[in-house]
Amino acid sequence: MKKTLHTYNPQTQEYEPYHPTLRQRIARILSRTFLSLGFAALCCILLYWMIGTPSENALRIENSQLQAQYNVISHQLDEALEVMEDLQQRDDNLYRVILQTDPISQHVRQAGYGGTNRYEHLEDMINSDMVIETTAKLDKLKRQLYIQSKSYDEVVALCKQNDARLQCIPAIQPVSNKDLKYTASGYGRRIDPIYKTVKFHHGMDFSANTGTPVYATGNATVIKCGWQSGYGLTIELDHGFGYQTRYAHLSKINVRKGEKVKRGETIGLVGSTGKSTGPHLHYEVINKGRKVNPVNYYYMDLTAEEYDRMIQMAANHGKVYD
Ligand SMILES: [Zn+2]
Repeated sequence: MKKTLHTYNPQTQEYEPYHPTLRQRIARILSRTFLSLGFAALCCILLYWMIGTPSENALRIENSQLQAQYNVISHQLDEALEVMEDLQQRDDNLYRVILQTDPISQHVRQAGYGGTNRYEHLEDMINSDMVIETTAKLDKLKRQLYIQSKSYDEVVALCKQNDARLQCIPAIQPVSNKDLKYTASGYGRRIDPIYKTVKFHHGMDFSANTGTPVYATGNATVIKCGWQSGYGLTIELDHGFGYQTRYAHLSKINVRKGEKVKRGETIGLVGSTGKSTGPHLHYEVINKGRKVNPVNYYYMDLTAEEYDRMIQMAANHGKVYD
């Protein structure tokens, strides 16, 4: 059935039937369609502008997750830097103190900071502050790890050197306790046994029978052996690290100049040669050219009680044989 439309005629003041042509009808349909589509498009644009497209929403969620992960990483880096600081403290204030070496300066530990802006390429990024801060922390940790690992290499080398040092420094008695006849006389001002005047005694006297073995008190090289005025038959050892020892009034010398000796090795025998009033060993420890009290160099083979006894002897009282 043909569709009938009505139009208002102002002259007759009546609605009159009206039959649009095909062209008019098509134009009418098209205009309505475009209007509807236009309205729908406007709604869509408004909606997207307000709440975003699904892919934008997915990216937004991903972005906030990444930010959260960055924050976690940044926090973990802070913790790692704290652990690093603890390691540095221990390195400087414990290991390096024990090994008697200088701490690593803050200047070296913090080296590489400042200068040109190395994070310029990150500045264009969204959240660039967060990315730059985290990257800078990571760089700091990397540099400090490198310096710390170098420091540990040095500490290990010093430990090995220290081991050699401990093998060489005089650390035992030159005459075994079982062979001692009397308490020995110590280092300090003593009455000279021959001239009966007060004189400084620069060594320690161990009274023992002639022929009692005399031991090298640390690994060393023989630098002198033979007769020395006053000292009689004498051996001098160089232990390195600034230490030398002297063994005087011997009855026999078992080593030659230039020979390497180990701690505990018999280098000669007790005697009474030179300026001496009876069989004994006169023992001296020389550190950096200065004769020091040998009592501080018996720490390896003495028990606490024996050490006390040795300290008393050294204080003392025992007869000086020179
Ligand atoms: Zn003496």
